Amino acid sequence: MQIITYPNIILRKKLPKFTDFNQPELKKFINQMSDFMLKEDGVGLAENQVNSEIRVMIANTKNGPTAFFNPRIIKKSLLKPSSEEGCLSFPKIYGTVRRHKKITLEYEDISGVTQQIQACGLLSVILQHETDHLNGILFVDKIKKFTDGRERLEELRKTAKENEK
Ligand SMILES: [Zn+2]
Repeated sequence: MQIITYPNIILRKKLPKFTDFNQPELKKFINQMSDFMLKEDGVGLAENQVNSEIRVMIANTKNGPTAFFNPRIIKKSLLKPSSEEGCLSFPKIYGTVRRHKKITLEYEDISGVTQQIQACGLLSVILQHETDHLNGILFVDKIKKFTDGRERLEELRKTAKENEK
């Protein structure tokens, strides 16, 4: 497994809804993603950062790495504090992003059963960041203030524009 970094256009892909929960290799794949996330010191990982077609993200919760399939935010607080974020797909780029303080997320678990989780604080940020990934939205689109790597990102954005041509 390898991390896909910006400006690879795969990161802009919106992944389709996942339904094939009977896939025999699914558990193994999710374990691989979880191990990979921990190895890379990540707190969250979206599937299009490692490239296949499964609409799933992993987030480190109090129960350890957990898989969220087809995540959708069904409730969110009006309050949107900002906090510093980084991303495995953007090495050495950090900035502050405003996110909903509390969210309720609906998703399917690895057995395909619909579940809900309420999150606030860091977990809420992670779940919003990763849900964005699955829709091709990246945290740099939402940075209010850079703490590091602004020039680096501008260079990468130029490359991204070149790739689009
Ligand atoms: Zn990310």
